[in-house]
Amino acid sequence: MAGPTGAIVQQSLNALLEDTSFLPNLQDTARKQAFTSLASILSTPNKVHKSFLRIPLDNGNVVRIPAFRIQHNDTLGPYKGGIRFHESVNEDEVTNLAALMTLKNALHEVPFGGGKGGVVLNPREYSMKELYYICKKYVQYFSDVIGPDKDIPAPDVGTGEREMDWMMSEYKSIHPGKPYRGSFTGKSVMNGGSLGRREATGKGVYFTFRYMIYDFLKAQSSWLNGSSNPFAKTALDHTNLALKLAVQGFGNVGSVAALEAYHCTSLQNKVVAVSDRNKTLYNPNGLDIPALADYTSKSGGDLPATDEQLTESGIKAELLDREEVLYLDVDVLILAALEDQIHQDNVDQIKARIIVEGANAPVTGEADQVLNDTGAIVIPDILANAGGVIVSYFEWLQGRETQFYSEAQIFEMLYSKMKGTMNAILPQYFGDSFPLRHNCYTHAVMKLSTNLYIQGKLY
Ligand code: GLU
Repeated sequence: MAGPTGAIVQQSLNALLEDTSFLPNLQDTARKQAFTSLASILSTPNKVHKSFLRIPLDNGNVVRIPAFRIQHNDTLGPYKGGIRFHESVNEDEVTNLAALMTLKNALHEVPFGGGKGGVVLNPREYSMKELYYICKKYVQYFSDVIGPDKDIPAPDVGTGEREMDWMMSEYKSIHPGKPYRGSFTGKSVMNGGSLGRREATGKGVYFTFRYMIYDFLKAQSSWLNGSSNPFAKTALDHTNLALKLAVQGFGNVGSVAALEAYHCTSLQNKVVAVSDRNKTLYNPNGLDIPALADYTSKSGGDLPATDEQLTESGIKAELLDREEVLYLDVDVLILAALEDQIHQDNVDQIKARIIVEGANAPVTGEADQVLNDTGAIVIPDILANAGGVIVSYFEWLQGRETQFYSEAQIFEMLYSKMKGTMNAILPQYFGDSFPLRHNCYTHAVMKLSTNLYIQGKLY
């Protein structure tokens, strides 16, 4: 993953300088100076916390595991973002992901800043007891810098409700008598979590695609029809077709997005491929997604990976190599695995014309450019996968008010927030010829800069 501001953020910052609505009351020199401060603020995190968690293993050994909490920016509210458990975690990656959280929250007007945590480990290699220690130690090491009004962690790759429950309980015992419910989000419902939080990211990913390609286009057809805008053309080319979808990753985000697509019977779309860390499963007539979700809930997460497993499961599919999911002849590709999946070396093999970033940063800056140049629609992470943090916000609010919403209310509030963001962004996207990521970044950065300016921080 490129540096926190990367080429595209830089490009958006440059566009902002040309944009007369950016700090319109300032004279040219003052605007340039404000812009320079803005670039320096966004390109570096406010605080980097690192530690080595000392963990006793079941076999009697003791290991020290590197752990991070990176607080990128708190202009719009307390730092907010997940904690990732993965062996590829490193300081640069966590910093980049924290910066993305700042932009994601600003884009959707969620009153939080951006942060991210990470622990360098493969959770599959640890027992439940060891993972419990890791969660407790993480909170012990960072307990001074997190909290309901300071920095609110949540699940990310490799973590879920169980880890958030353990962590909040540790936080509560370290800070007796203090408010603790809002210290972590993504907790189990029994423990103060929100209904719908588990499904929120996947549902939001599918909703973003559906709203943009169907509802928004239909509502705007009077001015979009006949448009020469390359992205409007691609969208209109797909709006009435029975689309073929492929989903990379069948975890919390990919499986829910695939289920949403499967159950959306008002459209004639089909999920023809899904993949995980082992294999791609392909069926040109459409996969039985509920059967696959059922299978993974019993297998501990993995899809059928051998012919025997496939026959035993009764699921009709062809087994292909793991990365084949990216190159199939489909219309829509939902990327819900890890970052850097489409890059300079494989971008030419991508056939899908609509690519949805369910994961954070799965398309590199260079690949994004290539795809946009061909008129492909790339729906960026900060727009498409914000469902998780949006419902985290609802969870945090519910914890404060000790008043809870029904699942239906949560999804209604989620969709209305995502719709609001899209209605603000899409007319410009289909009207000019900048990539959607550019529009989203500009919008987020504009929001941040206005607040930074009001707070007197652009000097
Ligand atoms: N880890 C998720 C993300 O990347 C959710 C963060 C949150 O709920 O705070 O957006």
